[in-house]
Amino acid sequence: MLNSQSESSSLSQNDRAVVDIPLGSDLGWTVSDSEKLYNIEGWGEPYFAVNQQGNVTVTLEEVGSKPIELLEIAKSVSQQGMGLPLLIRFPDILADRLARLHDSMAQAIARYEYQGNYQGVFPIKCNQNRQLIEALVDYGKPYQFGLEAGSKPELMIALACLASVKEGQPLLMCNGYKDREYLETALLATKLGHKPIIVIEQPPELELLITIAQELEISPIIGLRAKLNSKGIGRWGDSTGDRAKFGLTVAEILHIVRQLENIGKLDWLQLLHFHIGSQISAISTVKHAIREASQIYVQLAKLGAKMQYLNVGGGLAVDYDGSKTNVPASKNYNMQNYANDIVAQVKDACDQSGVMHPILISESGRAIASHQSVLLFDVLGKSQICYDNLCPPSPTAHLVIKNFWDTYQEINHTNLQESYHDAIEFKQEALSLFNFGYLSLVERSQAEELYWACCRQITAMLQDTEDLPDELASLPQVMASTYYINLSIFRSAPDSWAIDQLFPIMPLHRLQEKPSVKGVLADITCDSDGKIDKFIDRQQTKNTLELHPLDSKSPAPYYLGMFLVGAYQEIMGNLHNLFGDTNVVQIKSTSSGYEVESIVRGDTIETVLEYVHYDSKDLLTIMSNQTELALQNQQITSEAAQKLLLNYASTLNSYTYLNLKI
Ligand code: PLP
Repeated sequence: MLNSQSESSSLSQNDRAVVDIPLGSDLGWTVSDSEKLYNIEGWGEPYFAVNQQGNVTVTLEEVGSKPIELLEIAKSVSQQGMGLPLLIRFPDILADRLARLHDSMAQAIARYEYQGNYQGVFPIKCNQNRQLIEALVDYGKPYQFGLEAGSKPELMIALACLASVKEGQPLLMCNGYKDREYLETALLATKLGHKPIIVIEQPPELELLITIAQELEISPIIGLRAKLNSKGIGRWGDSTGDRAKFGLTVAEILHIVRQLENIGKLDWLQLLHFHIGSQISAISTVKHAIREASQIYVQLAKLGAKMQYLNVGGGLAVDYDGSKTNVPASKNYNMQNYANDIVAQVKDACDQSGVMHPILISESGRAIASHQSVLLFDVLGKSQICYDNLCPPSPTAHLVIKNFWDTYQEINHTNLQESYHDAIEFKQEALSLFNFGYLSLVERSQAEELYWACCRQITAMLQDTEDLPDELASLPQVMASTYYINLSIFRSAPDSWAIDQLFPIMPLHRLQEKPSVKGVLADITCDSDGKIDKFIDRQQTKNTLELHPLDSKSPAPYYLGMFLVGAYQEIMGNLHNLFGDTNVVQIKSTSSGYEVESIVRGDTIETVLEYVHYDSKDLLTIMSNQTELALQNQQITSEAAQKLLLNYASTLNSYTYLNLKI
């Protein structure tokens, strides 16, 4: 276990997840009830919706396509041997996000009669995947949309991908730690027609840059990353302020101005950059930062720098829970508000001081890349009810069992808390009697079943109760069913595990049917942290997700989707338990529906074993030698030996996830 989380009630971890909590009658349940329940309009519009058949669809409006059922895509690609989990990318959504950002900025520029233009860049760190970056550069051509590199590997990607732009000159923002190799490569790329802007984030970088620029006789465009005083917000709030890892204080900025002035190269300084953190949920935070940065920009221009660009960094948030509020999983503004505030404030500051309006740059990652990826996965099963055998105690039963039974029988709306306390006490008493040899295994099991029966009864009655005492309020979560999902949270949704980030998750089908079970999700890693027990809700978060029952009437397969996972998740995922990359398909809309543009098979077991330096040929040789020896010693039949070796070889070549036919 990597990170223990405390349970808020007196129940232990082993006790949980044994019964379904019914959500009440499903009479009259409609698709629109499901839409409301999962708030798909809030976070999914205009791309995701539910159709009348109760299936989640995607609409790629750019080309006026009709809605496509996500499960239909999964079924169609499964015929090519591509099982779940499956990551589907929709480049049309990527194009739409880019166009929306650009249009919002263009509208703001027109509205405020701003004299500069907008030339955004995409931070490669957000999703380095080749298909995505190439698509982005392509869609960005009309806007001269560029790339931001935060490391040498990302610089390599940026230089190669931007080479496809034949008209105009998108910007190449060079951020992150830089050594001689980084700086030389970036500067020399200007000879190929690239437009790198070297952003100084740490004071010592300047001297190295000056040396290299003079050696190469190339005049760099220099940017300075400011540590603003305006405080960021939320999880990444420390990206600015005095304690920030990156950036320059005002004193350091002034020192750099003097250094450049002293060598007569102040004209190299042309850009001011800041980044106040990702997922800025409050527009007021954006406003404060822009106000401060605009003033620094204006002052630098007044000091004689040839200022031309103001880069407002990332931070444009995604409404993961669809609540449109200032909570970490949401934002209280839209793209247009964001664009308006940037343009209006920069214009004001420049006009007041008679400084030319700069070209505006943003490094929005999350807001561009999140929506285009959906992760589809299947449910393998769920935890079982464990009070199936509950029946009245026999006359010879131990007194504790008889009393426990009476407590169970007498639960009503007026004694919920008292009954809960009694149930806990009887369970503990039964356990100590068992430990001292006074209770049989059967009686102990009766006590446990009675305990869960009491909890279930109390939980069902709680649904009509207001102002719950804390200890009872946590019961529904403790009682939630566990649905086991064919997925590694560590690989596919690392932010859910590492920083409790919320992603919208919902069933992909059966949405005309009431999801009558409250559950939590447990992945297939053997780590107790590999679970999801926080879900989006209209008000804050909820600890359980409404799911459909998996019973004899509607057994598995049951399919779920995790949405808005296109930013940061793919690259930050890890190989815990050696679950590798998932299968990926890229789907393009066509006038008649859709086409599978590309397929990237997920890692095979052989591939993930190579990451940890196992050679599959060596492994096969070892297995074959072992089997040979066992055959000689007559420990195994030749038929079984052959089967074992065939299985071993084919498993090496198979998907790391469970292989369930869709
Ligand atoms: N620019 C810089 C310097 C960053 O560090 C980041 C990420 O934190 C971004 C841009 C992208 O931020 P976001 O994904 O919030 O747009």
